[in-house]
Amino acid sequence: MTITSGQTVKKRLYDSKSFEKKYHYDGPLGARCGDGGTVFTLWAPTARAVVLRLYRDGGQDTETAHHPLAALPRGVWEYRSPQNLDGWYYDYLVTDAEGTTRRTADPYARACGLNGARSMVLDLARTDPAGWAEDRPPARGPEDIIYEVHVKDFTWDPASGVRDEWRGKYKGLAQRGTTLAGDGVHPTGLDYLLDLGVTHLQLMPVFDYGSVDEAGPDTAFNWGYDPVNYNVPEGSYATDPAHGEVRIRELKETIQALHRSGLRVIMDVVYNHTYKLDSWLWRTEPWYFYRQMPDGSPSDGSACGNDLATERGMCGRYILDSVLYWAEEYHMDGFRFDLMGLLDTDLMNRIRAALDARFGRGEKLIYGEPWSARRSAMRRGARPADKRGLVVLDSNVGAFCDMTRDLVKGHITRAAQPGFVNGGTATLAELCESVTGCTGGRHGFHAQAPSQTITYLSSHDDWTLWDKLILTMDPTHRFDEPLPQVLRANRLAAAICMTCQGHLFLLSGEEFGRTKQGLRDSFNAPVQLNRIDWRRAWSWRGLGEYYRGLMALRKQLPGLCDKSSRAVERLTQVWRPGRQCAAFLLDNSGGESRWRELMLVYNASGHPRNVVLPGAGWEILADADSSTLWQHPAAVQGAVQVEPTAALILGRI
Ligand code: CA
Repeated sequence: MTITSGQTVKKRLYDSKSFEKKYHYDGPLGARCGDGGTVFTLWAPTARAVVLRLYRDGGQDTETAHHPLAALPRGVWEYRSPQNLDGWYYDYLVTDAEGTTRRTADPYARACGLNGARSMVLDLARTDPAGWAEDRPPARGPEDIIYEVHVKDFTWDPASGVRDEWRGKYKGLAQRGTTLAGDGVHPTGLDYLLDLGVTHLQLMPVFDYGSVDEAGPDTAFNWGYDPVNYNVPEGSYATDPAHGEVRIRELKETIQALHRSGLRVIMDVVYNHTYKLDSWLWRTEPWYFYRQMPDGSPSDGSACGNDLATERGMCGRYILDSVLYWAEEYHMDGFRFDLMGLLDTDLMNRIRAALDARFGRGEKLIYGEPWSARRSAMRRGARPADKRGLVVLDSNVGAFCDMTRDLVKGHITRAAQPGFVNGGTATLAELCESVTGCTGGRHGFHAQAPSQTITYLSSHDDWTLWDKLILTMDPTHRFDEPLPQVLRANRLAAAICMTCQGHLFLLSGEEFGRTKQGLRDSFNAPVQLNRIDWRRAWSWRGLGEYYRGLMALRKQLPGLCDKSSRAVERLTQVWRPGRQCAAFLLDNSGGESRWRELMLVYNASGHPRNVVLPGAGWEILADADSSTLWQHPAAVQGAVQVEPTAALILGRI
């Protein structure tokens, strides 16, 4: 696409208040069908003409009808058909002010054909599985433990025991009763997750994305951070991507099954850029939905070649509508915003308020990456929803806390630079900051309360936790060896993460030393490398058991689950029992907990440390090797020893 001087004119026009005033539109958009007929509505204020084309299928057949749309006020174009066109596919020819005509699908499409190239008119009620109207998420527990999953890599491994035709699909994610290579003994997939004790599944992109050919081989793989149709599920996870209703029904069935199993579902959303600048949004109203540099070229804060102009009225509306649509139509329980630092704080607060109004305060989780890849040309006056923006965001808009992540395991891009558990150092003040959910403003992370903090060690981005530990601790980089010293560091890292305030988050497989063989960015690497290795999940079960015990313990500790702005006051005492070792006393009152006070000891040194216990009534809840001691707690008094590279968690009854 060539950049012309006319683009700076467009930028001025779209940024002007008069344009906003004249063309802002709040009415329905997209295609709506019923017994009374079908209405097609498109917002394209500078277009000269718009023509609707209808098709019998979503693939290659030629058009069967051709209808010009009528221009209405506020930049809206409309065509009304007396027929119910349920099941028909369509696209538009939009002629812009310069006379150029472009084919485009509908940016507001709720259904589409193969690879999302054509939109589809669909009566969505037809896609509801039986019992969908009664579908409700499970009740929220004392803590949110979010587990990040990619639909394809979760069940692609034949050892997953998932039915062959469902492996790598939505339906595979929902299959119950699966075991390791069908051995009937070791649960895999959904059953494995329920046993682990996580509360929320965060699905990596399930909106329609462009980097995988939906008609291609089953081995095609991508994370999917390249949106094509924002309001349609991805087709490559459906058993039949060519019929638009199938992907919708199968995603709903999956969400219903997850809800019935006791899990909430969070959707990863990418409203910061599109697969290409030449998107349906761009073809409909060139440049309006995209930020531009002063010379008219596209802003590139996403490092993907284009940034959505979220601060513009109709772009913000588009994103808000999309979030509400997924929450209402698909019963999504939360949203994880990719590169949230490219969205503006005002929009994020409007999304929060709209979800609260419909579903109850804080009921839907909202959080995101509080950064961007680069600086973006956000309109003057708008404020990025990044780390510094947390102070003006609603206290229930959260952010991934890179401070604790890097403090524990080391630098995110420098492979050899360790963190606290793997040979580096951490000050007592830094560790206090992590324990209290990063509400002190260190490293620019300005959470108002732990309600805004996502505490984590690894996500799909960057090295897995295990790979980072190997890169820093084993000079020969044996990623598949369960090295005892590295396992100790992993357990210590997990114990720290799960005893810090904030919502908890982990990448699927972190609990069994998931490896990508040292590859830092696997977004388009083969599925064989990205896939969840179900044999490893069981052969490394000891580490997984440690995670499982920590999660179960965490849910019983109100002092750590507290999300209020006063949670920081629960930390009553901190000291160093020795070099590379820190101890914390926390008030654990409230709730039903057996323990009214907690002691956390993190020993990252290679030596045992002695810790004197203040007062009486202490029990050991977890140590270096076991995180389930709390099930049969042993009383201790006087002093306790903490093993090298290990955590010790104690409770006072
Ligand atoms: Ca797709």
